[in-house]
Amino acid sequence: MPFAPLSGAPQHRLHAQTEAQARRSGVQTFRIDLISTAAEFAAAYKEEPFVPDSSPLPVREAAWPTLHVSRHPAILHKLAILRNERTEPKKFREVVRELSWLLGYEALADVEVRPLEVSTPMERTDAHELGVRIGLVPILRAGLGMVDAMLELMPTAEVWHLGLFRDERTLRPVEYYNKLPDSASVDLCLILDPMLATGGSATAAIEVLKRWGATRIKLVNLIVAPEGVDAVTAAHPDVEIYCAAVDRQLNELGYILPGLGDAGDRQFGTGRAG
Ligand code: URA
Repeated sequence: MPFAPLSGAPQHRLHAQTEAQARRSGVQTFRIDLISTAAEFAAAYKEEPFVPDSSPLPVREAAWPTLHVSRHPAILHKLAILRNERTEPKKFREVVRELSWLLGYEALADVEVRPLEVSTPMERTDAHELGVRIGLVPILRAGLGMVDAMLELMPTAEVWHLGLFRDERTLRPVEYYNKLPDSASVDLCLILDPMLATGGSATAAIEVLKRWGATRIKLVNLIVAPEGVDAVTAAHPDVEIYCAAVDRQLNELGYILPGLGDAGDRQFGTGRAG
């Protein structure tokens, strides 16, 4: 019962409560991995609960016709856990997986299905199965954490690994690993990368896939930077982008602000985030 009201305190005033009160109310149990003191609790809850606005998109986002930003409450909740610097790699990986599933679900919303018949225990009935062959292209290494969730959603998808690293000096992507089959054998490619930062890796990956013969490509990211969306939409206006958040900007090292730090390091417990 995460938001059980305390005696005499309206539910929406929880942010003003003391730690002891929060513990009695059960709130502490709910927030344990995010917030540990009453001061942090008060600081984190800047506003009263509200239902996220699902439309229309803010002007900036509306200017990118191929961008799909989810505002689903479950996605927003999980995103907060991911952003939190205190979230440990195990939990981080779990949430990357959950968010990937939810965003993959959205990315599949307009794909073709093929009719088929199945027998229920009661009778035969019309049903549908996915009618497209899907290729998953995780960008190494951070994209790896998104693959399992996507395979749960699309069990027949093929997985091809593409290794691109960012040259820290030029901020340009360098391809070091490519396990694509000889010719395009799928109808839809989903490029998986938690962070769309400069857009360098994404545009390079799209170019590789197009050269290879891919005709329909979508990008699935957790967080995007405006600079990255600009770069991808300018170079590839046919590629749709699915994400959980559009952040403010990149810093001088190409990291997204506020972002979540280095998505690879945070998943695999290497380096220091940010
Ligand atoms: N890659 C990351 O992992 N994080 C960023 O903020 C940008 C690129």
